[in-house]
This record gives sequence, C-alpha cells and structure tokens, in this order.
Amino acid sequence: MKNFNPADKIQDLQYFGEFGGVNPSISDSSTYTFLSAKTMFDTFEGNAEGCYLYSRHSSPSNLYLGEALAAMEGTETANVAASGMGAITPTLLQLCQNGEHIVSSRTIYGGTYAFLKNFGPRLGIKTTFVDITKLDVVEAAIQPNTKVLYCETVSNPLLEVADIESLAKLAKKHNLTLVVDNTFSPLSVAPAKLGADVVIHSLTKYINGSSDTVGGVVCGTHDFINALKNVNDGASMLLGPTMDSLRSASVLKNLRTLHIRMKQHSHNAMYLAEKFEKDGIKTVYPGLASHPSHELYKNMINPEYGFGGMLTIDVGSLDKANALMELMQNRNLGYLAVSLGFYKTLFSAPGTSTSSEIPLEEQAEMGLTDGLIRFSIGLDNDIERTYQMMKDCMKELSILN
Ligand SMILES: *Cc1c(COP(=O)(O)O)cnc(C)c1O
Repeated sequence: MKNFNPADKIQDLQYFGEFGGVNPSISDSSTYTFLSAKTMFDTFEGNAEGCYLYSRHSSPSNLYLGEALAAMEGTETANVAASGMGAITPTLLQLCQNGEHIVSSRTIYGGTYAFLKNFGPRLGIKTTFVDITKLDVVEAAIQPNTKVLYCETVSNPLLEVADIESLAKLAKKHNLTLVVDNTFSPLSVAPAKLGADVVIHSLTKYINGSSDTVGGVVCGTHDFINALKNVNDGASMLLGPTMDSLRSASVLKNLRTLHIRMKQHSHNAMYLAEKFEKDGIKTVYPGLASHPSHELYKNMINPEYGFGGMLTIDVGSLDKANALMELMQNRNLGYLAVSLGFYKTLFSAPGTSTSSEIPLEEQAEMGLTDGLIRFSIGLDNDIERTYQMMKDCMKELSILN
C-alpha cells in the first residue's frame, strides 16, 4: 500500500476522443461493423484484440471506465456492470455451482445478504454467515465444497473491518477465491494489494458520487474477467447486467474527482465522530480509537484518504432515531435517504431500511440496534457549523442535555 497511490494511477491514464477531445468519445452503438467476415468470426471466438462485436460484451466507453477502475484497484482488468448487484451476483454465480458453498461475513449489504440467503439455495449454493472479525470462526466454517470467501472491507452498516491480509492467507490455504466489496472505502483501501482475488464496487456510491445513477464493477485478473464475459458460459455476458455507454462516460468523469471528495468526506466524518463521542453519544467510526478494529484499519488504509465518510450513532430507540432524522432534514442538514457518497449528508435507520432483509433476531445478534442511525457524511464546507446545528437538533429532542 505504501507505494501504491490509487489516485495517481487514475491520473496517469491518458485517452483522447477520436477528434482529439480531452474526453474519450462516447460509443453510441449497440453493434459494430466488420470489414471482413473472418474478423467477425475471430472476434466471436475471442481472438481479435481491439475489435468490438456487441455492447453487452464490451464497448469502448465501458472499457475506458473499467480500465480506470482496474488502475485504481491495482488489478489486471475490470468489467463494469449496470449496478452493484449486477457486479456481485454474476461474480458469485461464476465462481460457484450447484452443490458448492460460500463463507460470508454476516454484516454485509442487505441485497447481497438476501441473494446469498434466499436466492443461492434455489440454485443449490449454500452460504454460512460468520463474524468476519473472528478468523478462527471463519476457518471453522470452511467445508470441502467451499469455493468463495466473501466480505466487505468496511461492513454495511456496522462498520466492522475485515482483516483482508489474514483472510487472503486463509483463502489461499483452503484454495478459495477471496471476493471483497470495497464500496465503502475506495482509494482508502486497495484490497487486491492486500491479497484479495476479486474486488467489487457499487459505483452508485462514492465513485460516482452524485446519486444520479446506479452502477457496479468487478476488478480482477484477465482470466476471471474474460470468464465473466465469455459468450458461452460467462455469467455477466449471459445474465446481461450491462452498463449503458452514456452512463459509463458520465461515471468516468465523476471518478476523476474522487480523491478530492474522499478527503473531504473523511475529514468531515472524523470531525463529527470525535464531537459526538465526546458528547457521550454511542458513535461507531473506524477513525476513533474506541473502534475495535481501529489499529488494524489504520495499517490498512492509505492515510491520505482517511477513515471514510460513514459513521453510525445510537440514539436509544427507533422513535428517537426517526424524530432526529426528520428534524435534521427539516433543518436542511441532509436527507433521510438510503445510499451514500452524495455531496449532502444522507441518513437512515438501517434496521428498517437497507438491512431490513435481515430477520430481526439476526439483527439483534449482530448488534444492529433499533436506535442506530447510519450517516453518509457529506462534503459540507463548514463542518463545525453543521455540528452545531446537529447538536441543537439533538438537544431539542432530549437526546443530548
Ligand atoms: C449499495 C451497495 C451495494 C449494491 O449496489 P447497487 O448499485 O445498489 O446495486 C453493494 N454493496 C454495498 C456495500 C453497497 O453499499
């Protein structure tokens, strides 16, 4: 990590439009002509580098964005998808067949959890959910038919940190593919540099950062990405979660300011987390010394980009959480909305929103309490002013004295 600065890798890329435009031209075509029938055949067979056949397989715009994201994650290549789930589900289906098994962190994105828990079994793929911070528990869950070890770098919504280096060793020892969803920590962490085999993002969040589209990406080796795109048995090619070229061009433009945004998100979240904790509010943020994985995470991140923009507080009850979120929205401190990475702060109560797929007793077991509010801290220019206004809201609702 020390010699790898992902933002520099993005900066170092250079591509021009076909008329010399400083942005690459957008490929506004679903299909492509060939000068000879032989080249078309070779392209179908995968033997014609640089030729395009049909945009569900690949398009110039999608390749530009994929290349930039592969550079950012330090992987050989990448394949963009129409959504984060459109990146996650084909990856898991490519790696696992009927009768095979996945070991997954239990604190993951609600949609991923629902897919593994409810949809996987329909295809004969079973998942054991574990506390990913306990390596002995993770190892004990591995079976002879286990193929994949799955986690998020920083988990949604509890902000648990996965020790990717140790998990990678475990995966290697048992011949598993380590798949890491890095959506919460772009630039801060480069999981492939820590040994992950496949790195996934929901581009919907920080990477695009403007809450105007959904998108996803799978970053990995040439072999794996080619397998996903194979016309005969590739899950991405055959399930068809292809991103539209117009969208990938716009995501690429937003990606170029990611490093500036991440620094501000992290700065603001750190400021608020320290203040809330000092005020006596139960606060979870990986940048706080009180976070159980603070020391681990400190050694995993590229310090320039900080501990990220996500934090949670617990205000005691769902009623108080709802009242606080409504009041903060009325005072224009942010929006009561799911998702993350927007310029405005977004807040939601995970138990009744993004993690509602998880049954109540399991929520309780993993520490997902009723009064929990998840914040995606925005790019506020004056975070001290924001803090004072949030504090006023908490006082009015007797959350603070
Ligand atoms: C949002 C999210 C996803 C799903 O991405 P979509 O773009 O909504 O399909 C997956 N993982 C994490 C961690 C997320 O936050």
